[in-house]
Amino acid sequence: MENQPTNAREIQLAARPVGAPTAANFALVERPIAELADGQILVRNTWMSVDPYMRGRMDDRESYIPPFQLGEALEGSAVGEVIASRSEAIPVGSNVSHFAGWRDYAVIDAAFATPIDPALADVHHFLGALGTTGLTAYAALTDIAPVRPGDTVFISAAAGAVGSVAGQIAKALGAGRVIGSAGGPAKTRLLLEEFGYDAAIDYRAGDLAGQLKHAAPDGIDVYLDSVGGEHLRIAVDAMRPKGRIALVGAISGYNGDAQEAGPDLYKAATKEVSLRGMLVSSYFPIFGEYIATAAGWLADGTVRTKETVYEGLEQAPAAFLGVLSGANTGKMLVRLG
Ligand code: NAP
Repeated sequence: MENQPTNAREIQLAARPVGAPTAANFALVERPIAELADGQILVRNTWMSVDPYMRGRMDDRESYIPPFQLGEALEGSAVGEVIASRSEAIPVGSNVSHFAGWRDYAVIDAAFATPIDPALADVHHFLGALGTTGLTAYAALTDIAPVRPGDTVFISAAAGAVGSVAGQIAKALGAGRVIGSAGGPAKTRLLLEEFGYDAAIDYRAGDLAGQLKHAAPDGIDVYLDSVGGEHLRIAVDAMRPKGRIALVGAISGYNGDAQEAGPDLYKAATKEVSLRGMLVSSYFPIFGEYIATAAGWLADGTVRTKETVYEGLEQAPAAFLGVLSGANTGKMLVRLG
């Protein structure tokens, strides 16, 4: 057993942002580690995830998940190694995933930790392709807006965590043509060279509708929307009859900036297009099954991943600000310790 620390560092919410968050919204605080109660484990976190949805939790408003509290540690997905345990179910030495990220050590009830198998894949993948981001892409393209063989599929935020995996999953599901949108030439090149996209759109270059028309002259069957705003509007316009749209995210509006004009829903009605929202938590019952499938995809090269890694807990706020502004390719991660 490794030496047990007495103190842990955590990132707290110092102030609620107005518009885009800044480093001043976060504080790094050191606190004593609580004694383990029966059924609890002490985890040394090795990796943590920063995710766009956390921006919504910084605001004090009702949502599908409660807001972060001022002066308290943020939370989010993390993986780590159990260094002390008062739980028979999860012994010292186990690797676990859990939701007490944004700190270097976490005391948690064993019931809220899930053992992960490092023999399946490097543990950081359990925050990316084998984590909720991979599951989001899979659920969107198999259940919310199912891909059928030969379909033309459009994916936004395509060089990010969900998008980079989604394009490859669409291909594995039999899509005929997969088109991705991302910001800037370096990312669009990556879509073609690394992530298996057939065509790439640089949304920062303007004329989004014209670029999509060029990439998919006969229209699209499936759209995985992570962006909202103009992306969703031009996708509805480009949908073929009975097309399917998975409403996964709307990052263009997360900082409360003026929302761009939304889609013409009458066009969706007359083309019998379905638009369906999703929350990945509804798919947790199939998580184990998904991990088994996706671990196979990682091992045989069906799905290739990239990670952008920031080093150290003190860099977690910068990593989070970066994921909102596009500093990442693939999954944005923070390596701890
Ligand atoms: P990500 O794609 O790795 O990172 C976000 C990316 O969004 C950035 O890298 C940036 O890439 C792009 N972006 C930022 N502002 C933009 C804008 N105004 N217009 C277009 N693109 C913009 O993040 P992720 O974790 O994979 O999440 C992707 C989306 O899925 C988010 O909307 C997230 O909230 C959503 N999500 C939903 C669920 C669910 O259960 N519904 C679960 C997971 C994720 P560029 O450089 O290309 O701009």
